[in-house]
Amino acid sequence: MKNNNSLELFERAKQIIPGGVNSPVRAFKSVGLNPPFIKSAKGSRITDEDGNEYIDYVCSWGPMILGHAREEVVDAVVKAAAEGTSFGAPTEKEVRLAELVCEAVPSVEMVRMVSSGTEAVMSAIRLARGFTGRDKILKFEGCYHGHSDGLLVKAGSGALTTGVPDSAGVPPDYAKNTLTAAYNDTDGVENIIKKYGDELAAVILEPVAGNMGVVPPRMEFLKALRDLTLRYGILLIFDEVITGFRVSYSGAQGYYGIRPDLTVFGKIIGGGMPVGAYGGRKDIMSKVSPAGPVYQAGTLSGNPVAMAAGIKTLEILRDNPSIYTEIEKKAKRLEEAFLNASRKYSTPCVVNRVGSLLSAFFTGERVVDFKTATKSDTNRFARYFAGMLERGIYTAPSQYEAMFVSYAHSDEDIEKTAQAIHEAFSI
Ligand SMILES: *Cc1c(COP(=O)(O)O)cnc(C)c1O
Repeated sequence: MKNNNSLELFERAKQIIPGGVNSPVRAFKSVGLNPPFIKSAKGSRITDEDGNEYIDYVCSWGPMILGHAREEVVDAVVKAAAEGTSFGAPTEKEVRLAELVCEAVPSVEMVRMVSSGTEAVMSAIRLARGFTGRDKILKFEGCYHGHSDGLLVKAGSGALTTGVPDSAGVPPDYAKNTLTAAYNDTDGVENIIKKYGDELAAVILEPVAGNMGVVPPRMEFLKALRDLTLRYGILLIFDEVITGFRVSYSGAQGYYGIRPDLTVFGKIIGGGMPVGAYGGRKDIMSKVSPAGPVYQAGTLSGNPVAMAAGIKTLEILRDNPSIYTEIEKKAKRLEEAFLNASRKYSTPCVVNRVGSLLSAFFTGERVVDFKTATKSDTNRFARYFAGMLERGIYTAPSQYEAMFVSYAHSDEDIEKTAQAIHEAFSI
């Protein structure tokens, strides 16, 4: 790392952008380092402003499942841009992406495009409230659903189920309609639903949690949520912003065989462009404006350039199902590397993996929820992270994020990464 361009850019950025970044985790605060500024990316590699090249396991936090700047996707984007970047009027591409989503995910009978995961979740919650006429929602500790007010809520202290704001600027009045429960705690959630069932519009969760590190769901937990929500007339919302088109082409719901009422998408659905979507049962989706009374709109919703990237990405995934087995195999190889290094250097580490999504937690205890995730040794993580970065491996700068494997990662990339893991555990 001979140049200082990233550092200079970071100093400049901090003068005029809060914290120097446009999304907090990019600032590398939790690992105590300065972030490389990225200049370009191709396939499995990203290159920073100082000329360092890294094997990338952030993959833009999930969207780049085919790798960076995949030729067919870039061509589709360029062609769409040349035909006009925005019309504010309906286009064929929106219909095609909607058809692809509905074909891929059977529970989604109708879908509305928006521009981010946050916007999609926020709209799905409004729809659930409009459909049921109820105000409260239930979420799970450690699940992230974007930064809208009602979802920036954490568990209250003690036995209190009612949430409290998890950010300055969120009125407690909003937070009080968000109840929280522990992930994978079937008894806990059953008690809450038995008590508040008639007031709940929706139960929302990441069907595989990806924002406290990867935490797979217990099958009985998912089944119980489906049964309880049906019994109490509550809508079950799967936030598949990470898992959609990742865990399988039909998402986590296809993988586990659970049919939610509404599903939220983001990340992969836009193929690296800003797209979010929410969809589900036709009788519910028909309540969205202008078909129904639940208002939701967007100047750049269904943007043709963004749609082009999403369409091409989904078509490639649909036509090449072996992509999923390939990326899973590579993720499994990384899982083994973590476990071998953990044994060899007597460094406590558990790996959670679902398909190509994985996290290595620096703890000796099984990680099944937020409480067990936060038992991880984050200082040890920071040392591991710095060791990986020095060896040209770019992973998420936080213990509580997933590692994303893409189809562009070669066997050689994986072996190089496995070696780096080994070395990073030895320091
Ligand atoms: C990333 C993410 C979101 C928010 O999506 P944005 O596009 O960042 O607004 C919502 N839910 C989950 C599960 C996510 O991982």
